[in-house]
Amino acid sequence: MQINLQNNLYKDLVYTIKKHHPKADLDLLELAYEFADDAHRGQLRASGEPYINHPLHTALTLAKMKLNMPIVIAAILHDVPEDTSRTLSEIEDNFGEDIASMVGGITKLGKIKYRGMERYIENLRKMFISMASDIRVVFIKFADRLHNLKTLNVLSPKKQYRIALETLEIYAPIANRLGMGEIKGQLEDLAFKYVYPKEFSWAYSLIQESYNKKKINLEKSINEANGFLKKDGVNPIAIHGRRKHIYSLYKKILEKDRNIDKVYDIIAVRIIVKNISDCYAALGIIHKYWKPLKGRIKDYIAQPKPNGYRSLHTTVFTNSGDIVEVQIRTEEMHDKAEFGIASHWVYDEAGKKSVIGKELYWMQELAKVQKNLDNKKEFLEGLESLKIDVFKSRIFVFTPKGDVIDLPEDATPIDFAYAIHSDIGDKCTGSVINDQIQSLNTSLKSGDVIHIITNKDRRGPSGDWLKIVKTRNARQKIRAYLNTKKSNWLGKIGLKK
Ligand code: MN
Repeated sequence: MQINLQNNLYKDLVYTIKKHHPKADLDLLELAYEFADDAHRGQLRASGEPYINHPLHTALTLAKMKLNMPIVIAAILHDVPEDTSRTLSEIEDNFGEDIASMVGGITKLGKIKYRGMERYIENLRKMFISMASDIRVVFIKFADRLHNLKTLNVLSPKKQYRIALETLEIYAPIANRLGMGEIKGQLEDLAFKYVYPKEFSWAYSLIQESYNKKKINLEKSINEANGFLKKDGVNPIAIHGRRKHIYSLYKKILEKDRNIDKVYDIIAVRIIVKNISDCYAALGIIHKYWKPLKGRIKDYIAQPKPNGYRSLHTTVFTNSGDIVEVQIRTEEMHDKAEFGIASHWVYDEAGKKSVIGKELYWMQELAKVQKNLDNKKEFLEGLESLKIDVFKSRIFVFTPKGDVIDLPEDATPIDFAYAIHSDIGDKCTGSVINDQIQSLNTSLKSGDVIHIITNKDRRGPSGDWLKIVKTRNARQKIRAYLNTKKSNWLGKIGLKK
């Protein structure tokens, strides 16, 4: 077997893995590279470069996210069964069941033949199914898509548009829901110019101009912050400027009447410190030297965002008179903010398939529904509520005891009641939100404290609630109750045994 170990991408991959996981066993990685290189030999990408560069780029993206070896290896092998004469069972023989099952998952995601709306639905359905069965497959798919977007210019305009649109409509919202902010931002920025070329060039020049103006002061501010943090006893691990992604900035500019001067977080100063105490200490020091803007201090450490995001935010006037957002966090919070759920696979070498935790409750729910998704008609019926559950922004609200419940935006007290327990939902008669009696169709807001009034004599939910509720969970439980009631009633009048 002729081995091309001279490939610079492969060297880069090994270097990146060693940096994050010094003890990683590189033998299997090398075997995977040889295997894929041999299988793809002679194949070229549309750009004319050797095909093997594509899986290597995909693997490199995941290695930069610090993800563990089985995921990186599966990425190197991800196009082998689909595009070469080597089979999935050969992969299993050489690399084991776990890696082979990930590669099989990616192959399944790849085959979508439909067009238009059908294609959209099928795509969404497949993404949901793989999310529920092995979320690691979705990480590899994101990395695969990122490289495909970077090399999109060589494809026909029709294909460019389709792939970019699919990225904005399906991949980016899912990345967002998984808390993978950096991946979501990259996907959107790469797709933006193909889907909305005019808007892209407008936004790009506007942003570039504003960024160039701020850049010099930013560097000064970073140095200053570094100086006074150290002087007052907090040693930052890193301080850097972060630039807001173009697509999300573009959307924000539209919200602010197309006035970029009203957007304060085009660039931000990001401070990474050792532990949580240092986060608060750093915030105090920042405020001692730079005056904060009123109402813009946010403590997402004490109260994380529903997607798990943790950080301290403040907006300050720096000594150069600029208004700058400062974000303070630990390294672990930083990994989590950039890569969301994927950061669970950073510190752990084991090939675990799914993480079960409160933050992933909705994914377990998805796993339950996906069993009923085999039939396309049912999927279509459930699609709207699924999309609301998965894609809508989340709010977090509280029980009177202080437990946090995570719901989609615009959810109602009935959704809240069913999220706690189906009995509470079924017997719910009213709601008290922040000490005020409110109707059951009120839209809840983040931070609301909700007390559900129940009546144990209440027969059950009203069919009208189906028009009000926003979550699939509530809808399903109301339907289930109404169906049993119907069959009992049919039983009573003798139509059903
Ligand atoms: Mn690929």
